[in-house]
Amino acid sequence: MNLHEYQGKELFARYGLPVLPGQVAETPDEARQIAASIGSLVVIKAQVQAGGRGKAGGVKLAASPDEAYEKARDILALTIKGLPVRKVLVAQAADIAKEYYLSIVMDREKKLPLIMLSAEGGVEIEEVARVAPEKILKQHIGLEGLRPYQARELMMKVFTDFKQAAQAADILLKLYNVFMDGDCSLAEINPLAVTPEGRVIALDAKVVLDDNADYRHRDWEHFRDPAEETPGQRLARERGLSYVKLDGDIGCIVNGAGLAMATMDLIKHYGGEPANFLDIGGSSNPEKVTAALKIITTDSHVRAILFNIFGGITRCDDVANGIVTSLTESPLTVPLVIRLTGTNEVKARQILSDFGLGATTSMDEAVQMVIAKAQEVTA
Ligand code: GDP
Ligand code: MN
Repeated sequence: MNLHEYQGKELFARYGLPVLPGQVAETPDEARQIAASIGSLVVIKAQVQAGGRGKAGGVKLAASPDEAYEKARDILALTIKGLPVRKVLVAQAADIAKEYYLSIVMDREKKLPLIMLSAEGGVEIEEVARVAPEKILKQHIGLEGLRPYQARELMMKVFTDFKQAAQAADILLKLYNVFMDGDCSLAEINPLAVTPEGRVIALDAKVVLDDNADYRHRDWEHFRDPAEETPGQRLARERGLSYVKLDGDIGCIVNGAGLAMATMDLIKHYGGEPANFLDIGGSSNPEKVTAALKIITTDSHVRAILFNIFGGITRCDDVANGIVTSLTESPLTVPLVIRLTGTNEVKARQILSDFGLGATTSMDEAVQMVIAKAQEVTA
């Protein structure tokens, strides 16, 4: 789950990271009120989960509550990288002397958290990474964790002022706590700003929580923004199915993550594009099948659906029953191709044929068939 900046800052504040006070607004009027309560120069920031808001006109300073109203109105009318701006953060603005970049990201190859730090922070960091990657310092954090002296040593390489380096080291240690306690895959501060008085503060927050850990974070529920979730994603989460939406047009319902990956590979191999990854899991509960079909059909790009079931613990007849129940309740508007083989396959085939559906045992055949059907629909 990606957090909005205001949520990331809320998390940062809980861990003692220095952020400036602010509140989120959904209307220009609310923005005016918040600006009035802050009572100084404020910054109005689009709350969308995309980088580069600054460059897209989504970050503006306002010197008075009335100006905050106007800027909020303008920003709330924007669409940034395809995402409509529904909320703005109205926060106390800082004077900036210099912008640094600091993040901790999970390095999946090394299986360790990686600190990235640069004196060239701000809106051009992607450009820095591209043309001058040596300006971004990288250091892994070992299993023993991050010691204060290590944080200080690292910051001394980038900050020339000792007091600022000490503040930045403290920030890094706290960011590491956010990252570890929070099961984050990313915790990023850009810019990590230094004010003219030499105070170091987090002016932006980008946090990605690893959804695989959500079972141990009840409090994450309060971060969930229904507007960010598609109906399919919501249903999948509620039913405990792992669903990843992709850009193609062939809906896939598969039992087992490995087989689901192989199915997507095969669709690609034969020239098709999968619309999703969906694993209904090893157990065979007809309700999961019904839920899976509902999830897939919320995606309007789907032009054909493929069931790929290898019956081990999963019983093919259970899946067949699920399909029949689900189609009886809500008939499909797109073609369906079924491949099943394994436990109770004969029974399953009978159930399906009683309902007027066929099924193949060959995965290659099924994949080619579903691609052809999707193309017929498009033609
Ligand atoms: P992003 O472009 O989506 O990463 O949004 P940021 O929150 O990083 O803001 C972009 C840029 O706006 C920053 O790099 C700053 O230069 C500027 N900015 C953000 N907040 C403030 C602030 O409080 N005061 C000033 N003067 N500039 C700010
Ligand atoms: Mn930023």
